[in-house]
Amino acid sequence: MLISQEKSILDNNLARNIFNSSPDAKVVLLIDDPSYTIVHSNKAFVAITGKNESDVVGANLFEVFSVVPIRNSFKVVELLRKSIEAVKTSGNLQKMDVVRMDISTGNSEYFKGRFLELSNTPILNDKNKITHILLSVKDITESCFDSIKPKEFEISQIDSQQRYKSLFLNNPDAVYSFDLAGNFLEANEATAELCETTIEYLLRITFVRLVTEEDRERVYKNFLKACQGEIVKYYTGLLTVKGNHRTLHIINMPIIVNGSIVGVYGIAKDITDIVKSKTALHNNLAKINKILNLSLDVICTIDENGLFVDVSSASFKQWGYHPSELIGTPYTNLVCEEDKEITHAISLKIISGIDTTDFQNRYIHKKGHLIPVTWSAKWDFKSRIMYCIARDGTESLLNKKSLLESEKKYKFLFENNPGAMLIWDFNTLDILDCNEMALSIFGYKKIEFLNLGIKAIRPSDQEAKLQSVLDTLREYQEIHNVDCIHLRKSGEIFYSQINGRLMNLNGIEVVIIQINDVTEREVIKEKVKSERNLLRTLIDNLPDTIYFKDSNAKKVIGNKMDYLFSGASTEYEVLGKTDLEIYGEALGRSWYDQDQKVLQTGKGIYDYEEYFEKSDISKWIATTKIPLKNEYGEVTGLLGIGRNITLQKLAQHQLEKLNEELENYNEKLLKSNMELEQFAYVASHDLQEPLRAISTFLTVLKSQYKDVFDEKGEKYLNFAIEGSLRMRQLIIDLLELSKIGNTEDIIEDVDINQVVEQIKENEIANFKGKSISFLVDNLPIIRASKSGIYQLFSNLISNSVKYSKSESPLEIKISVKSFGLYWQFSVVDNGIGIEPEYFERIFIIFQRLHGKEKYSGTGIGLAIVKKIIENQGGEIWVDSRVGQGSTFYFTIKKN
Ligand code: ADP
Repeated sequence: MLISQEKSILDNNLARNIFNSSPDAKVVLLIDDPSYTIVHSNKAFVAITGKNESDVVGANLFEVFSVVPIRNSFKVVELLRKSIEAVKTSGNLQKMDVVRMDISTGNSEYFKGRFLELSNTPILNDKNKITHILLSVKDITESCFDSIKPKEFEISQIDSQQRYKSLFLNNPDAVYSFDLAGNFLEANEATAELCETTIEYLLRITFVRLVTEEDRERVYKNFLKACQGEIVKYYTGLLTVKGNHRTLHIINMPIIVNGSIVGVYGIAKDITDIVKSKTALHNNLAKINKILNLSLDVICTIDENGLFVDVSSASFKQWGYHPSELIGTPYTNLVCEEDKEITHAISLKIISGIDTTDFQNRYIHKKGHLIPVTWSAKWDFKSRIMYCIARDGTESLLNKKSLLESEKKYKFLFENNPGAMLIWDFNTLDILDCNEMALSIFGYKKIEFLNLGIKAIRPSDQEAKLQSVLDTLREYQEIHNVDCIHLRKSGEIFYSQINGRLMNLNGIEVVIIQINDVTEREVIKEKVKSERNLLRTLIDNLPDTIYFKDSNAKKVIGNKMDYLFSGASTEYEVLGKTDLEIYGEALGRSWYDQDQKVLQTGKGIYDYEEYFEKSDISKWIATTKIPLKNEYGEVTGLLGIGRNITLQKLAQHQLEKLNEELENYNEKLLKSNMELEQFAYVASHDLQEPLRAISTFLTVLKSQYKDVFDEKGEKYLNFAIEGSLRMRQLIIDLLELSKIGNTEDIIEDVDINQVVEQIKENEIANFKGKSISFLVDNLPIIRASKSGIYQLFSNLISNSVKYSKSESPLEIKISVKSFGLYWQFSVVDNGIGIEPEYFERIFIIFQRLHGKEKYSGTGIGLAIVKKIIENQGGEIWVDSRVGQGSTFYFTIKKN
């Protein structure tokens, strides 16, 4: 099949194609070279090495083999070297024993065990000299375990005797043929080797001789089947010519020539080693199972999905289930509900590679009761299986009752501790257990928490602190009140104080620790600090001088205003000094003495005002000095506040001056008012006398000298009489006005209902010819001068009557409302009304809106009303519409 050409071994197209597409890995080596350079390599070989073709061709075979990612390559390389040497010395094909190599799958963790068959074939040049060696690597793993692929197809394809022979002879498997009687017709070298004899010997015997006794009948039957046209595959024992036993996998198929069966082909594969190792494995497993099943502990394996893979028979005794009932079911089915969460958490830890011993949970027995189970478990990364040993905890619990009791107590203390309790592995720092408080402080669920190490619950910048805690624990086995910072799940940090102890628990060094959240305390500390800062900032920015002095009157704090006031530019210049030292004798003496007084008497000085003058500054200062006392009431110092009150002083001074002026003015006004009233009174009083004389004589003149006057004269005389009457009325009214507020008025309870009733009667009597309807509320009794109240209502009511409309009946309504301290009265009429522009003017003396011809009057009535009301502390105003009527409102103080 191979072409013996020194220059180009694989120049022939056919040969190259066969070579390249062969499923077996093949390389051609140049043997001249002591290092066995690879000159050709097919794809299958390149694939085994896991490299590129370019890396393989041109490289030394042994180097390639020694670095390919296979596990037991060293042994293989040794065998290969021997085999090639043998080819060189013998000039014959050398078949090597099946080797097992663990070839990398690409993932460094996993290797795939492959059974390989290697053979070295010499390649000769035309001078019959070996120039190259063809190394064939056949992967027979599949055929070892399953079946050998029928080769009849290949056989039928080989039409040329040459090719058939080549395949037959060079095949690394044992290939042979029998006639219909079972005699060997042909056998290749591999067959002879397998049977530990020569081809010649084989060609003289029937195969049955080589079959082990117990298999003979069965093998012969299979042979007959092949003779009848069937392809059969089977295992058989081989008894070699030298008497050794081997196990073979056989394929037999009919040889058909011109349509009739003339014999049987056979291909035999030696699977002795595989069978041996399988048997050994089987025996071992049986032994292990025996041990497992004898054990009182349940030994089981659980896969990554939590399903039982294997369970030893102790499961029946412990849990009431036969292994067959459990295999393939989730182990959690058996865990009691309360323990599921913790069991799951522990299982996650185990899967992450942390071996666990003495984990306890409770299983539900098939009969329904709970069984305490103590677990040891380990995860195997390669097989992805958890190996577990479960011990029935009942017995040990009974035996260790007292231990349990103390453990219970401990557990109780642990669980109910007001602080967060943690147990962690001193060496791995893994958290092993915690109480509810820890979960609540840190914000984790138990599952999450037990998956953490203690580094995860501390801020990353606390490594050094942690190390010092570990060092202390190592040295003293204890830590006390160590301040730490911890980290919650939320990422928030909190201040903590920890106490703990290093101890040995079931052979593990663990730390049991209590963590108290002292954030609040720290926050308060911080707050105090920041508040102190705030206070300092505040007092430094106040416009007052603020200072503290000790019991020797030496300054301990002085705010900015204070040290600037004393002429210093920093606080330190004034600290530790008394005012005598700061300001000198002239200025500081009085202040120093003041300080001493406060310190000695324990009594403060409040708003002590003094005028201060220093160089060009002068100001008023109000000083307050408060003694500071300790818890025993002893004076330990003083707090002083100095306020610049210059501006207030100035304002106060101006105010005082203004007040003085105002008082003067008031006094003058009062005097002139009194004089005016006096004048009005005197004038009106004294004017009455001459006026009365004038009127009397005018009347006499009219009655006695009637005949002397002509018509004109009489008319003038009437004018004069009218004028004097008017003047008389004016004077009476003026006199009334000036009398108001006379201190001699009697103040009494006045029933206004009575007053109004009287006025009503008078008015009705005077007002002839027209009807007046009065509507009067129930009016109050007030304390006042009766004559004043009478005049007030009388003037208003008589005005309503006077300024009524001639065409319609007159209605007067008098009402009252209470408004706090005042009564508010209203007198309403439906008279002629007043233009709004006169609303103010009508209350001024002598102001009249009509001529005396139309409405008689002096224009004093409302001025009198106003004065009476104002004297009582009230007000008066009017609201009116021309043609519709007027309302006079006025208020009078209730008392
Ligand atoms: P006199 O009535 O003597 O003129 P008053 O001081 O009493 O003086 O009134 C001033 C003016 O107010 C009156 O001249 C009149 O024009 C107007 N007046 C007062 N009361 C009323 C009223 N009830 N209706 C209309 N006008 C009035």
